[in-house]
Amino acid sequence: MKLIDKHNRVHNYLRFSITGNCNLSCLYCNPDKKKNYKKDSLSKNQILKIIELFFKSGITKLRLTGGEPLLRDDFDELIIGIYELNKSYKAELGITTNGILLDKKAQLLSDCGVKSINISLDSLNIEKFKEIAGNDKLIRTIDAINNLKEYSNISPKINTVLIKGKNDNEIFDFVDLSIKNEIPVRFIEFMPFSKNEWRDEQFIPYSEMIEKIASKYDLIRAADESSVAKYFNIAGTKAKIGFISSISEHFCGNCNRLRITNDGKMKLCLFSKGNDILDLKTIIESQSIEDAQLSINNFLQVKHQEHPSVNELKILKMNDMLEIGG
Ligand code: SAM
Repeated sequence: MKLIDKHNRVHNYLRFSITGNCNLSCLYCNPDKKKNYKKDSLSKNQILKIIELFFKSGITKLRLTGGEPLLRDDFDELIIGIYELNKSYKAELGITTNGILLDKKAQLLSDCGVKSINISLDSLNIEKFKEIAGNDKLIRTIDAINNLKEYSNISPKINTVLIKGKNDNEIFDFVDLSIKNEIPVRFIEFMPFSKNEWRDEQFIPYSEMIEKIASKYDLIRAADESSVAKYFNIAGTKAKIGFISSISEHFCGNCNRLRITNDGKMKLCLFSKGNDILDLKTIIESQSIEDAQLSINNFLQVKHQEHPSVNELKILKMNDMLEIGG
């Protein structure tokens, strides 16, 4: 089976937010400093059941996100369960994490075949990190990134949301990190979401980021191996720099992604309206695999050709990143 929408896009990539809890309160994502951890809405078995349904339906790439996915109490059992399940499907497994707990989990992730680890990191300066992420554990993320070199089956990437007046003065520090550690760094355009107080003057389009980096380094366009990031090599180095231009130049035409929120709701787009969901938690308990696949396929047919414009997004500010997982 293949999940194809009415715009002929094949959907083979699932992003699953496995918890709404996070150990950081990044100002662009989850600025609410109160840390009232809630019981996770989906059990390990419900998550595995939903993943199996999607593996059976044509998903070949799965990324766990959150909240902070490594924060789940039963994370170890869950990832082992995914590993066991995946023996029959051989999907590419990935995770997106802020890296605070990564050192503790890296061996397990490697053992369970999690190949792609994206680490979110927005400042290399402890004071600035504290200001952006609301926590002073920067060193834990840095150590985890350095230690990942020990795992030859893991390909890490760093994701950095660049915000004018906050961390844009560190752009060369991140490029230098990519040069020194030979790890790809991707700069993400700041997106408007519920609670994050996005303002025009804080927004940096990727063209401006490229211009800045090109003022110091020779950038060579790399063969794109991703539908979302535009990649460049830095001449004379092994560094790779990517740009994710969701706002200034969307890539909806190539969209192959489906998303599941931490409470088991399927979403067709990061920017879908709150009520534009399919309740998979109910579906997996009440429908046969065939009927569930039919429900997913019918829902997929309402996917829009592209996401709303930034002006609409600014006003709508409708989604909570912790529930969807970026
Ligand atoms: N806690 C994990 C982490 O830090 O990677 C996973 C969840 S986080 C919501 C996933 C990704 O979304 C991160 O790379 C984060 O930087 C990105 N993100 C969150 N809010 C964003 C925003 N307003 N604009 C751009 N990227 C954002």
